[in-house]
Amino acid sequence: MAAKEIYDVIIVGGGPAGLAAGLYCQRAAMKTVLFERGLIGGQIAISKEVENYPGVEGITGFDLAEKLLKHAKGFGLSIVPEEVAAVSAGQDLHEVRLVNGDRYRATALILASGGTARKLGVPGEADYLGSGVSYCATCDGFFFRDRTVVVVGGGDTAVEESLYLARLARKVTLVHRRSSLRAARLLQNRLFSEPSVEVIWNTIVTRIKGNGKSVEAVTLEDTWSGKQRDLAAEGVFVFIGFAPNNLLISPEVRINELGFVITDEKCETNIPGIFAVGDLRKKYANQIVVAAGDGALAALAAAHYVETRKAREPLAA
Ligand code: NAP
Repeated sequence: MAAKEIYDVIIVGGGPAGLAAGLYCQRAAMKTVLFERGLIGGQIAISKEVENYPGVEGITGFDLAEKLLKHAKGFGLSIVPEEVAAVSAGQDLHEVRLVNGDRYRATALILASGGTARKLGVPGEADYLGSGVSYCATCDGFFFRDRTVVVVGGGDTAVEESLYLARLARKVTLVHRRSSLRAARLLQNRLFSEPSVEVIWNTIVTRIKGNGKSVEAVTLEDTWSGKQRDLAAEGVFVFIGFAPNNLLISPEVRINELGFVITDEKCETNIPGIFAVGDLRKKYANQIVVAAGDGALAALAAAHYVETRKAREPLAA
């Protein structure tokens, strides 16, 4: 299919990073379009509560996503609900190909495709997905009211989601592979003072068992002794981090060994005019405020890049 319109900036992904980038691009008078394949807001759209976005004291992820969307749209951002299949670097213009076959070109690209929940990769995990295995407590926690659940992981997400589940489930058992949590101290304190939560340390889940229809137990292995035992559970929530959604990215764009895109301080990749923001980008911490900051920074840098290119030479159509 022939290439469609040419833009100053194309943004791939409509989470906080992409929407912040869109808002800043519009304010910089860049001709911009944003493609999003799923939920606007990305991962935050399914977050129960956001407590640490500066200036916003407690809001659901969904409501924050709505606000970010409204704000960007208020400045005229064009948002197209289509999935991007591939991104390729060009000499003057970079190209984005959609799953529907349409192709778009732009002087600058801002990649904000985020990440996806990591899987344990143990037997039973895929079999019981949606019937006991979940990666989102706020989506599925309701189904485990007064039941027993196991949470796997030791980071902020595992602890936050355990606290959320503790309000619904009869018992939450957090299984962590080490003897200390990675989560913020404040969250840990809340977790340890929650009577319906038990933490099992130095332990991994090696199997998820069930009756063919629903989960009945997990097999636990002590990482010190290697001993295995079964623990009864009706639900298993896995929060062991996430992998960047980098499959659509041009192979020339440099990524690290974990698949996160390497950028400079302007969020620009090794390819001039291609930027990566939010959870896709390698950085110290993934936070909503950091993602939004990335989006703003990349948009300012992209606008400068576009203006410099336009001043230098008229771009070929
Ligand atoms: P994370 O910080 O990478 O933590 C992943 C956890 O899963 C770690 O405790 C890790 O153990 C464990 N893990 C990894 N692979 C495992 C495996 N195969 N089997 C068992 N356990 C495994 O991921 P996250 O909690 O999703 O957080 C991601 C980022 O978002 C972080 O920067 C976090 O601070 C941020 N975040 C912030 C908030 C907030 O501030 N409100 C909320 C959620 C997330 P080890 O500790 O042994 O490595």
